[in-house]
Amino acid sequence: MINLILFGPPGSGKGTQAERLVDQYNLVHISTGDLFRYEMGNNTPLGIQAKSFIARGELVPDEITIGMLRNKVEAHPDANGFIFDGFPRTIRQAEALDHLMNEEGTSIHALIALQVDDDEIIQRIKLRGATSGRSDDSDEGIIRNRLDVYKKETTPVFDYYAGQGKSHLVEGTGSIDAIFDRLCAAINALHAGL
Ligand code: AMP
Repeated sequence: MINLILFGPPGSGKGTQAERLVDQYNLVHISTGDLFRYEMGNNTPLGIQAKSFIARGELVPDEITIGMLRNKVEAHPDANGFIFDGFPRTIRQAEALDHLMNEEGTSIHALIALQVDDDEIIQRIKLRGATSGRSDDSDEGIIRNRLDVYKKETTPVFDYYAGQGKSHLVEGTGSIDAIFDRLCAAINALHAGL
C-alpha cells in the first residue's frame, strides 16, 4: 500500500498529475476540491455550507472538510493506496489524516510538492477559468486570496511532513509528460525504499 499527498499551490497541476498517477500505481484519487464541487453541483447541505468559503477563495472549515474526507477514505476499504490532492491544507487536517491512516492500519508514505512560481500559477488558473466555469478561477483578486491562504495556512503542512522525513520537492514546470516522469521517478525511489 502506498499513500501519497500531492501537494502544491492551486493551479500547480495536482489534479492533472493525480489522474495519471492513479492509473500508473492503481491508487484511489481523493480531491477535496472535486468533492466540494460535486456537492455544490447537487446542492446538498454540505455543498451549501461550503459554497460561500469557496467563492471567496477561503478554506472550508476543518470540521466540515475532515468529516467529508473520512467518509471518502472509509468508502474504499480495499484500496491499494490513496493519492490525496488538495488535502491536507492545514496542520489540523494533517494531524487528522495521520490519525485516520493509523486507524486504517497504514500511514502517509510521502508528500510530494509541485513547485511553480506565482506568476505562472496566476496565468494557469486564469486559463483554466476560461473553460472550467469555476468562478474562483476567474477573478484575479480571488486567485490571489487563494495563493495567500496557501502560503499562510497550507505551506506549514510541508514542514509538518518534512519533520517526519516525508516531504519531497518536484519541479512543476515544463510539459505535463516531463512533470509526470519526474513524479514517477520520485515515487519509484520511495517505493524501492518501502
Ligand atoms: P481546489 O480544487 O483544491 O483548488 O479547491 C477549491 C476550493 O475548495 C478551495 O479554494 C477551498 O475553498 C476548498 N477546499 C478544497 N480542499 C480543501 C481543504 N482540504 N480544506 C479546506 N478547503 C478546501
